[in-house]
Amino acid sequence: MISLQNVTRYYETGERSVHALGGVSLSIAPHEFVAVVGPSGCGKSTLLHLIAGLDRPTAGEITVDGLSLTTADDAALTHFRRRQLGLVFQFFNLLPTMNVQENVSLPLLLQGVPLAECEARAQELLRRVGLTERAGHFVHQLSGGEQQRTAIARALVHRPSLLIADEPTGNLDTASAERVLTLLREIADEQLATLILVTHSAEVAAAASRIIEMRDGKIVSDCVSSVQPDTQAWQRIPLG
Ligand code: ADP
Repeated sequence: MISLQNVTRYYETGERSVHALGGVSLSIAPHEFVAVVGPSGCGKSTLLHLIAGLDRPTAGEITVDGLSLTTADDAALTHFRRRQLGLVFQFFNLLPTMNVQENVSLPLLLQGVPLAECEARAQELLRRVGLTERAGHFVHQLSGGEQQRTAIARALVHRPSLLIADEPTGNLDTASAERVLTLLREIADEQLATLILVTHSAEVAAAASRIIEMRDGKIVSDCVSSVQPDTQAWQRIPLG
């Protein structure tokens, strides 16, 4: 369970203070698939970074599965990220000096999992994302879609309970984007992970079970999908 209470994030830039988030309150239940949408600069990435413990709020409280990300020390935050979190970004963030399998194994190695087990689990994830044949390749030898599938395998290899994706299909052609999105959803579903995804695409958002729309650092609408026999209907959640 993720909970944000009256979270603000201001950035001080010279004389100006930028209000990236202005008082966001929100709860996300386990296994939800949440799409965060809104115009550029409205605070989507800031929100994601705070939930991922990569940044701290100026004020307010954030808890993830009972851990206060606001007051946790750096060691506790690192532990949280290594154990519970999978991250997928628009620009893949793979390590160019490692091959595909080594990139995917990395989160497990950082946890101290024995090498043979890291390799076996990386191979299983690579099979899952259709990249078994590419295990020994380096990042520059892969297409954009393959790089993003590698990043998904890496984000999920340690079976995180929370998967955060910032524009994961933003750099891909339509066919690759569809494949990447389907994989993200399927594997998150299988592993019972919560998936929070920022997107500019209405189609990607429509695949989510909940859509949170932001503007000027605030949530302006929050809708859950209730699947009817033939159509997908959206129901507004009152804003907190
Ligand atoms: P989005 O992801 O919706 O495009 P962001 O969360 O990246 O929006 O940014 C929200 C606002 O905060 C923007 O006005 C942006 O310029 C500002 N901002 C983000 N990061 C920083 C930073 N490190 N320093 C100063 N301003 C920032």
